[in-house]
Amino acid sequence: VVLYMSIPDFCHKFLPGYVGGVQEGAVTPAGVVNKYEINGLQAWIITHVLWFANASCFHFFSPTIIFDNWIPLLWCANILGYAVSTFAMLKGYFFPTNAKDCKFTGNFFYDYMMGIEFNPRIGKWFDFKLFFNGRPGIVAWTLINLSFAAKQKELYGEVTNSMILVNVLQGIYVLDFFWNEAWYLKTIDICHDHFGWYLGWGDCVWLPYLYTLQGLYLVYHPVQLCTAHAVGVLMLGLLGYFIFRMTNHQKDLFRRTNGNCRIWGKKPEYIECSYMSVDGTKYYSKLMTSGFWGWARHFNYTGDLMGSLAYCLACGFEHILPYFYIVYMSILLIHRCIRDEHRCCSKYGKDWKHYTAAVPYRLLPGIF
Ligand code: NDP
Repeated sequence: VVLYMSIPDFCHKFLPGYVGGVQEGAVTPAGVVNKYEINGLQAWIITHVLWFANASCFHFFSPTIIFDNWIPLLWCANILGYAVSTFAMLKGYFFPTNAKDCKFTGNFFYDYMMGIEFNPRIGKWFDFKLFFNGRPGIVAWTLINLSFAAKQKELYGEVTNSMILVNVLQGIYVLDFFWNEAWYLKTIDICHDHFGWYLGWGDCVWLPYLYTLQGLYLVYHPVQLCTAHAVGVLMLGLLGYFIFRMTNHQKDLFRRTNGNCRIWGKKPEYIECSYMSVDGTKYYSKLMTSGFWGWARHFNYTGDLMGSLAYCLACGFEHILPYFYIVYMSILLIHRCIRDEHRCCSKYGKDWKHYTAAVPYRLLPGIF
């Protein structure tokens, strides 16, 4: 039976979570539904196979190449980030993909930072948001960590358990992103943000350079954790990942099936909502109050923060630098939570108030 199946059919049947092929995104403010080619997992695998083949089999370059060229690469990443953001700005003014999906605030700097076009594209398939968010920086994330591990081995003759933990936990997070790339089309980045410097520069520079700080720190300060500490970090990281994935999965399942599913073995409870689009059309939606979404309004962020804290704790307690990540992620996700709630409140009006009364906490039940 397997031999007669097409590859997409095989993937749908046997690879839970992986949804390749062409997927539809959310409705844009102008009412357009874009199609996306989902092939991030393939891109990630091909890049890593080529990396291993060239660095470890053919020895065309050293696996430490990224660490060894860290500063020149920073220049290249910045040039790319600024070029992309500037191009996106000019494109918004002179040849937008969809003029109705452009937002001009009248403030040049704000428009440059936060973007004008909602979904800039070149041709039918090259989507700026999906490509820059979901290819160069995030594919590089795991390669950079591998390069840091190789550098540790070169310098000290061994790779510490802390470096392995950082590689494994962040590797799971990156692979999860690609495995669930279709789900990513439903996140705030794709559904609500315009494409400007915030996403263009952020994806090319901020993500690969700041999200990999733990590995960089461990090259200069190798840390060998005691077993209890290492197991504790692993447990926290895996628990955080589990909460992050399950919470996102529950919402995705709920929205995909329009509530006709089971969450924790029961039919989900929800609040019926309505909203108006810019052209005055009335739409209906549902906000789930079951599963993790009944515990807090953004429990997916809580799981993400637990995982982020685990990466930092893997570096021990000698220095503040590796903890930059958890501070940054807390600011990012709390700000995002407030920004999203503000948007949902103006979108759903009194229905949002019913929802917040049913689920009163944002991140931590009983606390915040
Ligand atoms: P969410 O996936 O939480 O999406 C929020 C949207 O979901 C809301 O705008 C609303 O959209 C809808 N929604 C809210 N409550 C409910 C509910 N109860 N039932 C059904 N739908 C609901 O946010 P993000 O897109 O920000 O995050 C996705 C994941 O990505 C998170 O796990 C986050 O941690 C992670 N992330 C990671 C980052 C990183 O740098 N590592 C950066 C940003 C995010 P609608 O208008 O459709 O109702």
